[in-house]
Amino acid sequence: MTDTGIDTTSADELAARMKGSVVRPGDADYDEARAVYNAMIDKRPALIARVADVDDVVAAVNYGREQGLDIAIRGGGHNGAGLGTVENGLVIDLAALNSVEVDADNRTAKIGGGALLGDVDAATNAHGLATPAGIIASTGAGGLMLGGGIGHLSRGFGLSIDNILGAQLVLADGSVVEANENENPDLYWAIRGGGGNFGVVTSITARLHPVDNVVAGPMFWSLESAPELMRWYREFILNAPEELGGFFAFLSVPPAPPFPEELHLQKVAAVIWCFAGPVEQADEALAEARAQPGLLLDGVQPMPLPAIQSAFDPVFPPGDQWYWRADFVEEIPDEAIEQHVKFAAELPSWKSTMHLYPIDGAVHRVGPTDTPWGYRNANWGQVIVGVDSDPASAKALTDWTIAYHEALHPFAAGGAYVNMMMDEGQERVKASYGENYDRLAKIKAEYDPGNVFHVNQNIRPAG
Ligand SMILES: Cc1cc2nc3c(=O)[nH]c(=O)nc-3n(C[C@H](O)[C@H](O)[C@H](O)COP(=O)(O)OP(=O)(O)OC[C@H]3O[C@@H](n4cnc5c(N)ncnc54)[C@H](O)[C@@H]3O)c2cc1C
Repeated sequence: MTDTGIDTTSADELAARMKGSVVRPGDADYDEARAVYNAMIDKRPALIARVADVDDVVAAVNYGREQGLDIAIRGGGHNGAGLGTVENGLVIDLAALNSVEVDADNRTAKIGGGALLGDVDAATNAHGLATPAGIIASTGAGGLMLGGGIGHLSRGFGLSIDNILGAQLVLADGSVVEANENENPDLYWAIRGGGGNFGVVTSITARLHPVDNVVAGPMFWSLESAPELMRWYREFILNAPEELGGFFAFLSVPPAPPFPEELHLQKVAAVIWCFAGPVEQADEALAEARAQPGLLLDGVQPMPLPAIQSAFDPVFPPGDQWYWRADFVEEIPDEAIEQHVKFAAELPSWKSTMHLYPIDGAVHRVGPTDTPWGYRNANWGQVIVGVDSDPASAKALTDWTIAYHEALHPFAAGGAYVNMMMDEGQERVKASYGENYDRLAKIKAEYDPGNVFHVNQNIRPAG
């Protein structure tokens, strides 16, 4: 036996059944293999199965189930709550399943379950195509796309889940199935928002759209002008052409080029724009924004989509402390703006931030029960994150995030985007799926009655 209580002989048996490798406590690469993106999460799995292909995933799922181990599925390892790892259990690390095959004629991409958003953007942009996803290239496509997927292209093309055409999964019993409109349609419904609850997704087939170069970048305004700016923004963005993405943020100007030195570390109100329509129409779409008082910096310019998709990567390398809180928001009343401005002035570190991602437009054209996404009526996904590289800041980050969230929560719609929550308990998960939760629980009972896949924002099998 190892010090984790795992039988060494049977762990060897798993390693022998796999083409990939198995990392255990004591191995030279154990600490590197167990690290996830959020350094606030420090878990020590008993085994990390670095799978090489679908057969390896089957072997790992069967082994974990037979041994009664808690199983965590890891895509990009970005999950805020650390749901890509597990204490004393088995991590199925999908990093090697990172291929992205583009079918340009049919405008689809087959995305490996462990691909990162950067892999997806690079492969699809080579054909002048894109699928809507998130804003940091090192995020896992698997976790992000299965939980929802909000990003610069959401207003125009919907959430990631609205663009999933099918997937291949390894189920809890080790069987390999397809889920799409014709095969296992109930499973197909469930995975478009239900995250890793139903199986290990080894590939996702996604719809692509013709997006190549965009006009994108940040505009910063002084914090003093924030109340007026927010009042303008809440009307403007919901009436703007759908090609225009623009999330509102409070942030500190990063202390590095290309930002002018006199602005470094200044707390500002910002909108990060991404115009994915004809380049010559971008100025018109952004003219009103440029006219808002208090503008300090206009960094909007033409660029390939992957450039804006990875623009924040240098600010947010792996290994920082992260504490997350989220809500869905339908309206931003003046009272909420007052609270926003108060907490923005108290950002506990220069990387801490608040984002309001617009999720109207194409997101609203999908019906409330067409996918598990519980809040098609919400206009924004709001996220507050305390972030810093220094572990000593952890408490200050957490306290600020929770206090900010509690001050804003009364103005929110109820639940939150599951991918931007910490481990906040079952009621919060239920609230986030709303009227779709019961159907998810029934499908969970069919495909994973023993709740083998429970290291996630868990949907419990209906009893
Ligand atoms: C810096 C940063 C930026 C972000 N930006 C955005 C954004 O712009 N838009 C947005 O929508 N979200 C964003 N997120 C949130 C992101 O969607 C979640 O953190 C998501 O969980 C990340 O997926 P992952 O594969 O990297 O996570 P992991 O930690 O690897 O996995 C998290 C969970 O996802 C599930 N999972 C992952 N891969 C699979 C798979 N192949 N099969 C089955 N289950 C799987 C599992 O349940 C697992 O427990 C961001 C997160 C970070 C840290």
